Amino acid sequence: MILTSFILSFDLDHTLMINPFRRWVFPEIETWFHSRAPREQFPFYDVLGREHSRRLREGRLRDAYDWDDIVRTVAREAIGADPPFTVEELVKKHAVPGKVWRFPDVLPALKALRKANVPMVVASNGFECYQRPVTDCLQLTPFFSAFHTPDRLQTAKPNPEFFRFAEPGRIIHVGDRIDQDVVGANRAGAVSVWISRDLPPEMRRMPLPRRKSHPDFPRWLSMRLKWEGHSGRVTEEHLPDYALASLEELLQVWESAK
Ligand SMILES: [Mg+2]
Repeated sequence: MILTSFILSFDLDHTLMINPFRRWVFPEIETWFHSRAPREQFPFYDVLGREHSRRLREGRLRDAYDWDDIVRTVAREAIGADPPFTVEELVKKHAVPGKVWRFPDVLPALKALRKANVPMVVASNGFECYQRPVTDCLQLTPFFSAFHTPDRLQTAKPNPEFFRFAEPGRIIHVGDRIDQDVVGANRAGAVSVWISRDLPPEMRRMPLPRRKSHPDFPRWLSMRLKWEGHSGRVTEEHLPDYALASLEELLQVWESAK
């Protein structure tokens, strides 16, 4: 292994793909849950969201993404019983063509990077057992030499400890979320790359290294932060090193970093 070379790490959800949780897995759990627990007393998405947020607040970053444990916990509280299925089984069932998606820029980008011998790994807050069925279905798995996930690392983005899977100064991390991907990479000392496929045309037209100095860039970041559930106040740690409109621009980032 060459210790000095850069490694490219990828967030998965909304960076490369759309997983089946929102449209298929959670609705199926919700149907079972409300066949046992009254909707008025235990609104499914509220109790699920509360349990996830409570774990984040308590600093239990790994546990906040353990959806099997979260579903079991809320089921025991509301119903007094465990679900007759696992979330992992439901993900496998719904990780099929037509229910999961890959963005159109993903395959051309990954193929070009592979051709340039760029080492690539997954760095996702989704447990490997929930992500691998989706990347398998979308034919993404073979591009990556490793999956770095909270179940393995015992923490999650944006904790800089998450990026211990390599020498942080040698990681180029690409993701769609400011609060998790950009902040996490910045705190760890990695190169932070933000993929924003709806980047305004006036920024898109600028060369990559100059986009973040566009006068409207902080406002654009602030809107995104609000959408992610934060106050929207932009600080240094929210600023990505690069803002991409397409993953096909990643090769340029790689060329300028190495
Ligand atoms: Mg994401």
